[in-house]
Amino acid sequence: MNNRPAQELWETALGELQVEVNKANFYTWFQKTRGVSFADGIFTIGVPNTFVAEYLEKNQYSLIEKVLTGVLHADVRLAFSIDNGVPKLLADRPDMPLFNPKYTFGTFVTANSNNLAFAAANQVAENPGQNFNPLYIHGGSGLGKTHLLHAIGNEAAGKHLNALCVSAEQYTNELVSSIRARTTEEFRNKYRSVDILLLDDIQFFGGKEQTEENFFHTFNELHSNGSQIVVTSDRPPKEIPQIKDKLLSRLEGGLVADLQPPDFDTRVSILQAKAKREGVEIGEDVLEYIALQIKENIRALEGSLNRVVAYSKLLRTMITPDMAARAIDSIASKAPQLAPVTPGLIIETVAGAFQMNISDIKGRRRDNNTVIARQVCMYLIRQETDSSLTDIGRELGGRSPATISYAYEKMSGAINNDPLLRRQVFNIQQKLHTTKAG
Ligand code: ADP
Ligand code: MG
Repeated sequence: MNNRPAQELWETALGELQVEVNKANFYTWFQKTRGVSFADGIFTIGVPNTFVAEYLEKNQYSLIEKVLTGVLHADVRLAFSIDNGVPKLLADRPDMPLFNPKYTFGTFVTANSNNLAFAAANQVAENPGQNFNPLYIHGGSGLGKTHLLHAIGNEAAGKHLNALCVSAEQYTNELVSSIRARTTEEFRNKYRSVDILLLDDIQFFGGKEQTEENFFHTFNELHSNGSQIVVTSDRPPKEIPQIKDKLLSRLEGGLVADLQPPDFDTRVSILQAKAKREGVEIGEDVLEYIALQIKENIRALEGSLNRVVAYSKLLRTMITPDMAARAIDSIASKAPQLAPVTPGLIIETVAGAFQMNISDIKGRRRDNNTVIARQVCMYLIRQETDSSLTDIGRELGGRSPATISYAYEKMSGAINNDPLLRRQVFNIQQKLHTTKAG
């Protein structure tokens, strides 16, 4: 009998399934699945929606059964359970009370590219509200902004300080809901009572006058109480779209520190540290190979290492540079050149399937057909992309997050109950995953 957790077993199975089915298929049907449980000879697989359940059950049942039997060393039957988008909804929860335990100062590799930001973040965690207030950290995607914010949060939590980390988007959504629910007083109290406010991705406030104004007041109150404010952004303060001068001067009034892409040696050190933390045996030559391939984004760098390790487990081979090259190539160049599934592609594909114009979907028409097409767009964008409710509303002609959330729930129900609609959405989904790039 196997005591490993279902998710771990499923990941092993996925590794094998990945070689058994073609790439496009794997991405379409297996990517968002998870192992839920294994009990009484039944392995339950969590899938994002009914189409995936239906497809896997009809077309891949015996393959999955075979692979799982191998992994479990036991006979197994399969069951599918619909995850109902729960993980995504959780991600939208307004506050994020816990800091990621992996994001600490100890796990942050320092170098010339990030020295100043690292030192300042440390200072701020040591003596909040004393030296650099606010601390503004900016840099490209995957360069460690959120990592440093959580490192400050972890440190503060250890000292029983009241630190709160929130993305600018969550702040915005919460503010909007509190206005609607007439609970702005609570909102205000929550944000103005903290010792350290960690605000991630402030560029999101750009052009949102009301939120920006509200944050300006939160900022002033915290600042005059001696509370620490740390802000991150993908760009310097001046480049935040349509930022008002008064907030700009506040943001520039402390220390502005940037994160640059790491040089080669730093990339190797980051990979070494990660391999060591995860107990992976891997040669310097391989790490150097990976570090040469991936330059601009530490998230992508770590992703490649994961990929190489997974590959070697799967094929039960030693990790050599040659093998690493194959593992990385199979994502980089050998993958079919499919168009990424973006909100734009979804709207275009839905418009095609319903034979209507994109402008009608984004517009205000209320006839039945248009409303359904629009809701299918909302549903699919939520299912298929990482877009937030706010993003989806923006893509669809400026609709509110509440509208999107309502439509999503409604559409999920309709799809479950109406086989024709289900078939139609299913076909659109298949089309999305076979659209060629370019
Ligand atoms: P950002 O918020 O800037 O997009 P993240 O903070 O999410 O980036 O970092 C992406 C990934 O890279 C995370 O897993 C993080 O732990 C890792 N990372 C970034 N910078 C470093 C570093 N200097 N040392 C170790 N890991 C890092
Ligand atoms: Mg981030």
